[in-house]
Amino acid sequence: MTLKHLEEYRDSAIAEKLIERITNTIKHDVRLMEVCGTHTVSIFRSGIRSILPPMISLLSGPGCPVCVTDQKEIDAFIELARKDGVIVTTFGDLMRVPGTKSSLLKERADGTKSSLLKERADGRDIRIVYSTFDALEVAKKNPAKKVVFLGVGFETTAPTIAAAIFSAAEMNVDNFSVICAHKLVPPALEALMAMENVQIDGFLLPGHVSVIIGVKAYQPFFKRHQIPCVIAGFEPADILQAIGLLVEQIESGRPALQNAYSRAVTLEGNTKAQKLLEDVFEPADVCWRAIGVIPQSGLKIRKKYERYDAETRFDIQVADSMDPKGCACGQILIGTKTPPQCPLFKTVCTPIDPVGPCMVSTEGTCAAYYKYHI
Ligand code: SF4
Repeated sequence: MTLKHLEEYRDSAIAEKLIERITNTIKHDVRLMEVCGTHTVSIFRSGIRSILPPMISLLSGPGCPVCVTDQKEIDAFIELARKDGVIVTTFGDLMRVPGTKSSLLKERADGTKSSLLKERADGRDIRIVYSTFDALEVAKKNPAKKVVFLGVGFETTAPTIAAAIFSAAEMNVDNFSVICAHKLVPPALEALMAMENVQIDGFLLPGHVSVIIGVKAYQPFFKRHQIPCVIAGFEPADILQAIGLLVEQIESGRPALQNAYSRAVTLEGNTKAQKLLEDVFEPADVCWRAIGVIPQSGLKIRKKYERYDAETRFDIQVADSMDPKGCACGQILIGTKTPPQCPLFKTVCTPIDPVGPCMVSTEGTCAAYYKYHI
């Protein structure tokens, strides 16, 4: 089905036809994972879960950047914010993620766990920015301070951060640096396939990330695992179309790597952004929350830009980081649990007082279940 205008992607008559096609095709129970927090929210917001045949289970994967950021990285951000003369700049979602109480991260006077928001209330200079270039501007306006940007996110946000580092080098802005906690999607798919307890029949692949990395970035993964994969956009018809393609692949026994978001995603992706990433970053083994270290699944700043690497510029000591007690974010991120299966969901853990990052972030699965699940 070819759609041309945005209204068509939200047209209920078109959605009904797509659902009818899915219903007529599906014969078996299937488990499909969306590997993107924006898909998770879009699926809930448009009510897609409630109108799909009950044989389809939608699992939310490790696609929320704040949620997959390791606890040790969160603790490092807080530790950094406590250093004198430092201005921490960040996207807003990170502000309320709880840190660990530990010997190095001194407990707050009121006995509660810290977070960047609480550190700011304690007088630390932590500023929410809307782009990395805003952070660079903060550095230019505050030459006597050291300005650090907290770099979290996937291949979608990493190019803008690479561009800011590149610009800082061009303009010789020496008081700007980035703490790099970026993650990459294809290695996470590999890690999911290697987990014995994870059962996935097909992947709804992320649209935004794919705009940057292109269809070709998934080809080695697909070749190895021969599992149905469809790149999807974010409107209701985009998602239903992609689910329909996955179901057709599964029922026909003919897995494929398909691009259902061709109005934005090409085979090659954004080669300019890829070159910038290649220039500034190199792949690294990094730790994902509750999943552990995934080989070559993150980015670190290359040696030639090391003066913009906050980890080399600052002595950031973090010990005893622990995931929040009782929090099931780890299982939720790999699709083995849903938020209502966490005993803290809606009882102890709420968006006002979150225990884990999946309840903090607007793209977090727990926050989406809290807001939209009936
Ligand atoms: S409901 Fe709260 S405690 Fe439970 S998994 Fe989600 S974020 Fe963690």
